[in-house]
Amino acid sequence: MTKLSNETIVDIPRIFNIMESAHRIHNPFTPEKLASLGVALRLEPRDRILDLGSGSGEMLCTWARDYGIGGIGVDMSPLFVEQAKARAHELGVTDRVSFVHRDAAGYVVDEKVDVAACVGATWIGGGVRGSIELLSKSLRAEGIILIGEPYWLRLPPTEDIAQGCHAGSVSDFLLLPDLIASFGGLGYDVVEMVLANQDSWDRYEATKWLTMRRWLDANPDDDFAKEVRAELTTAPERYAKYAREYLGWGVFVLMSR
Ligand code: SAH
Repeated sequence: MTKLSNETIVDIPRIFNIMESAHRIHNPFTPEKLASLGVALRLEPRDRILDLGSGSGEMLCTWARDYGIGGIGVDMSPLFVEQAKARAHELGVTDRVSFVHRDAAGYVVDEKVDVAACVGATWIGGGVRGSIELLSKSLRAEGIILIGEPYWLRLPPTEDIAQGCHAGSVSDFLLLPDLIASFGGLGYDVVEMVLANQDSWDRYEATKWLTMRRWLDANPDDDFAKEVRAELTTAPERYAKYAREYLGWGVFVLMSR
């Protein structure tokens, strides 16, 4: 939370706004993978998309440009929402997409959408199950849900390794077949998926390092510099040792059975 006079502005922890300020996609997806997902969905120009945790808006903005869709993105970071609006302007799609700054927990739209997405932010609904329930309230019958979620490439043999991947514990994530089965258990068909790979993970993680280094060079006296320095010093090795070896990520396309 940032405190400005008497007004409290909702925000995400500052470290993310710093580390990911240069990211267009705040996930282990390259622009090519995001475009592949758009193709896989067979979008039509009249389709409307709700995106909870929309980050800097790259999914909605590029799909509006490439497939003519419209939609709303909701995100809690004022910085990312500003970047999303600027991106919509840059791509000439401000007539089709809009971005709202707020906590997306409980966010439901009146006019039902064709695609409801939560891509890499399922804590918004209290986990995968809760996020699917939340998204389904905004979704038309036969509509599509997109869930972006990590999974284990192989089960970490120790809790330390899980925590090295920024998981609270091994039980936070499933192996890919079990994650897919869990969607079935919730009453959904998995009708498509696009998965990250090590190269696309590297784009997400390694991009943070140069951003942090540039931020440190520009803000040596900032109160926060110590925290950013500690992160930059440890993140590359930790990533190579843990997440790069153990963590997968993908977007799963779901339709209610
Ligand atoms: N889907 C985007 C962003 C994923 S990163 C993309 O793929 O690029 C997770 C995002 O969730 C961040 O943009 C963060 O600001 C946002 N976020 C975190 N908690 C939130 C909340 N409670 N409500 C809305 N957005 C939230």
